[in-house]
Order: sequence, then structure tokens, then C-alpha cells
Amino acid sequence: MDSRSAQLGKKVAVLDYVEPSPRGTRWGLGGTCVNVGCIPKKLMHQAALLGGMIRDAPHYGWRVAQAPHDWATMADAVQNHVKSLNWGHRVQLQDRKVKYLNVKASFVDAHTVCGVSKGGEETLLSAEHIVIATGGRPRYPTHIEGALEYGITSDDLFWLKESPGKTLVVGASYVALECAGFLTGLGLDTTVMIRSVPLRAFDQQMASLVTEHMAGHGTRVLRGCAPERVEKLPGQQLRVTWVDLASDRKDAGTFDTVLWAIGRVPETASLNLEKAGVRTNPVTGKILVDAQEATSIRHIYAIGDVAEGRPELTPTAIMAGRLLAQRLSGRTSDLMDYSSVPTTVFTPLEYGCVGLSEEAAVARHGEEHVEVYHAFYKPLEFTVPQRDASQCYIKMVCLREPPQLVLGLHFLGPNAGEVTQGFALGIKCGASFQQVIRTVGIHPTCAEEVAKLRISKRSGLDPTVTGC
Ligand SMILES: Cc1cc2nc3c(=O)[nH]c(=O)nc-3n(C[C@H](O)[C@H](O)[C@H](O)COP(=O)(O)OP(=O)(O)OC[C@H]3O[C@@H](n4cnc5c(N)ncnc54)[C@H](O)[C@@H]3O)c2cc1C
Repeated sequence: MDSRSAQLGKKVAVLDYVEPSPRGTRWGLGGTCVNVGCIPKKLMHQAALLGGMIRDAPHYGWRVAQAPHDWATMADAVQNHVKSLNWGHRVQLQDRKVKYLNVKASFVDAHTVCGVSKGGEETLLSAEHIVIATGGRPRYPTHIEGALEYGITSDDLFWLKESPGKTLVVGASYVALECAGFLTGLGLDTTVMIRSVPLRAFDQQMASLVTEHMAGHGTRVLRGCAPERVEKLPGQQLRVTWVDLASDRKDAGTFDTVLWAIGRVPETASLNLEKAGVRTNPVTGKILVDAQEATSIRHIYAIGDVAEGRPELTPTAIMAGRLLAQRLSGRTSDLMDYSSVPTTVFTPLEYGCVGLSEEAAVARHGEEHVEVYHAFYKPLEFTVPQRDASQCYIKMVCLREPPQLVLGLHFLGPNAGEVTQGFALGIKCGASFQQVIRTVGIHPTCAEEVAKLRISKRSGLDPTVTGC
């Protein structure tokens, strides 16, 4: 956003400061995505997927030994890549004549911000327009004894030099499932503890298939359980006590690492927003914004994870920033369109989606107006190594009335992000079911299975696809 404004002829300064995690982990420029989010996550997911490919390889004729995974080598490679991105961001800001200050910012008044450096030095800056993009940080369960002292979060996991070992991941968010998924894939004994429902904001049938696949492929999934206490044992291991919420029965286990992935807190608390008059939602702590991304103070804007009601995704934050920069420089009046934003959950079996979940479509249009087409399928690549494809599943949620406008697409299978991205364009352009099924597939791919969808849930026919 900031370098974009500078390119458009504005004088711009960017203030970025990383408060170390409670465990002391710190990182460089680029925000959550680059340092402790999408990038290290996807690379570690890839490391885990490679394990599966090594297992497949002998079936395809490769004489490869099943070697154990070395965390330190992977972590070093991932962390080096992240550091190269930090450097790239620095250079980009310089090239675009953006002043970068490594200071922690807070408001003095509606036009003035005070930045405090690591050494305590203060810098006052005033601006015509101020954009808040401070994101969020992982939430700690402060009511659980030992949680803060002994637990880590995703802010630490990607920067560990040594393997986390036997790990308990607490949470049901995509971050929890993704971390549990790649840890399992790397050969670590991994348990994920889910209090209520996994992937709450997502289509719940798909969410169930995601966890069913994980449970069937090595992750221990504890449903309906909540941790109560974490204690350190003499041998450095952690003993976690939890309660089964249905039976009220207590249980305990021993782990090397406890990873809290129970949600994120917006970074608004230390911004002194009240001094500028910027209003927040008292429940979420997020900054209230309008369609222009403006806060309650017209010349102060908020974008990305810190803004109320926005998807917590990198591409939406970037696009919102780019459009805001263009509006502030008077180039366009285009607003960010937050509808039909595609996303992918990078669990071992990836889940890509765009548009409405089945539940949301039914709630919005009524069951009698919604038609859901679905199919189980077997990726060709799974056949030779005889991989289990029980959860490879696609559903397309449409309006029932012809031409059956597509409301949502849900894809569970390999390369879900790559598959979903293309269909997202069609859905954004208002594709109908009729248009999708007249789209010629690319054979043999998993993506072509979307164009082959014919069976509606309403028909009650068997959605298990056979043959090619
Ligand atoms: C584990 C994980 C995996 C993820 N995976 C994906 C994914 O696959 N795809 C995807 O699209 N999204 C993913 N996300 C979400 C994505 O990272 C965020 O949506 C995105 O980074 C939000 O960008 P932002 O600019 O709003 O905030 P951030 O990227 O969080 O940037 C905010 C910056 O502001 C700094 N800051 C905070 N307060 C101050 C202050 N007072 N003064 C100065 N600087 C301050 C912070 O240190 C940080 O550098 C993931 C997130 C996590 C945690």
C-alpha cells in the first residue's frame, strides 16, 4: 500500500515494528504473511507433502530409501527464504522512495503519530492521510495455567531451530489444522484438540471431511475437549490436563510442545486510537471501517486483518491497499469488492473454496432455491500408489432456477489452491452451472472433475464417480 502510494506521487513513510512473541521470537519486515504466516506455512506444508511423494515414489519405480525428516535443515532453508523476502521488501521501499522507520507507532492526535524505536528514541510524524495496517497476533488462553509460560504459537513455530517433537495443537481454526497437518506429515506425533467445531466459518461438510482425512492419516483428533492446565515435568516435557466437555471427564497427556492456535487478536491495543478518535468494535477490538476503508475519522483508514469484517487474507489486504492508494492519489474511485474471495486451507488434503458455503446459500436463498452438485473422485496420481481418496470431494452450490448461477465452489483434493483460483474468476464473472458443465475439461486433471459435476444432492444419486 505504502510503496504503491509513493509510486503514485505521494510522500510516504511506513512505520513497521515487530514486538517479539512472549517466547522472544522476532522477525523482519513484511508482516505476518512473509514471516509467520502464509510463506513459511506453505513451505512447511510442501515439506510434508514431499514425504507423501517419497512414499509414492517406489510404486512409480524410484528406488528411494524412506529417510527420516530433518527439521533443522528444513527450518534453516525456510528461514533463509523469509530473510531474503525481508531484504527484498527493504529494497523495494527504497527504490520507491518510501521512508521506512523501524518504530512502534501510536497516535498522539488525529494527524500525528509517535514512533518509538527499539532503543526508546521517539519520532513524531504528521500526515494528511494515515493508514492503519497493524494486523493481528495469536491469542493466548490467559485463563489456562501454564499456557503463556510453556506454550508457543504460530509466531514461534516457523522460527524453531529444533523439531517441536510430540506436539499438541489446540484450536480449530485453519491455522490449527494446517500446523497439525504438516507436523504430522513431517513424521511428528501430533494431536489437535478441538473444543467445538473445526473451520467454523467454512462449509461444515467440507470441514468434516478435512478433519476425517487428517484423523485417517496420522493426526490424533480430540473433539469436544478443552485444556485446563499445562505443567512442566522434570524432564522438560509438558503435561497437559484437559476435560472432555460432554462427559466432564478429565484426561492428561505428555507433549514436547503445546501450540496455541485459538484465534488472533487485532493489534489495536497499543495504538492509542482514542487520541485520534478512531472507533473500534468493543467485542472484537477491530477498527470500524466503511466501504472506502475509512475509519470514524475521515482521513484515517484501516485495511487488512485489523479492520472489522474483512477477510483475514493477504491478497485482500494487498488489493484493498492498492485501491486505497489509487483513490487517495485521485487516480480512480474504485472500491474493494470483498465478495467471492477465494481461499485455500493447506491441510494435508487441501481445501479450496470460493463463494458461499452450502449453509450460507440455504440461509440466504432458502433450501428450495438452492441446488448442490457434488462428486467424490479419485485423482489419477493416487491410483498407482493406491492412495486413499475417500475424502476427495467437490461440491458446487448453485441457484436452482436456470441457468443456475454458481454461488459457491468447494474443492477437496491435491493442489486445491491452483484449481480454485481459476474457477474463482468464472464465479466472479457470474458463471452459471450450465456454463461450467459446458467448459471442456483438461484431461487427466482433478480440476476437470468440477466441469464433470452432474449429480445433485436432491436427486439422492450416488456421488461416487467411477471410470474416467
Ligand atoms: C499461520 C498463518 C498462516 C496464514 N496463511 C495464509 C494463507 O495461506 N493465505 C493468506 O492469504 N493468508 C494467510 N494468513 C493470513 C495473512 O498472513 C494475513 O491476513 C495478512 O498478513 C494480513 O496483512 P496485514 O497487512 O493486515 O497485517 P500483518 O501482515 O499482520 O502486518 C502488520 C504489521 O504491522 C506491524 N505492527 C503492528 N503494530 C504496530 C505498531 N504499533 N507500529 C508499527 N508496526 C506495527 C506488525 O509487526 C506487522 O509487521 C495466515 C496467517 C497465519 C497466522
